[in-house]
Amino acid sequence: MTQVKAEDSAAVKKHICTICGKHSDTVICHACEDKLRGEALDQKRGVEKGGK
Ligand SMILES: [Zn+2]
Repeated sequence: MTQVKAEDSAAVKKHICTICGKHSDTVICHACEDKLRGEALDQKRGVEKGGK
């Protein structure tokens, strides 16, 4: 992609979820993001947090 207007994402969801392919306001919809986050946490289990 050459043109990216992330600052103009006011009301229209112009992104497509890279996981499920649905329209989302982010590159990954909240559902998939939550799922990925859960998997990440599962993989990082036992690893010290970065402190976010
Ligand atoms: Zn998704």
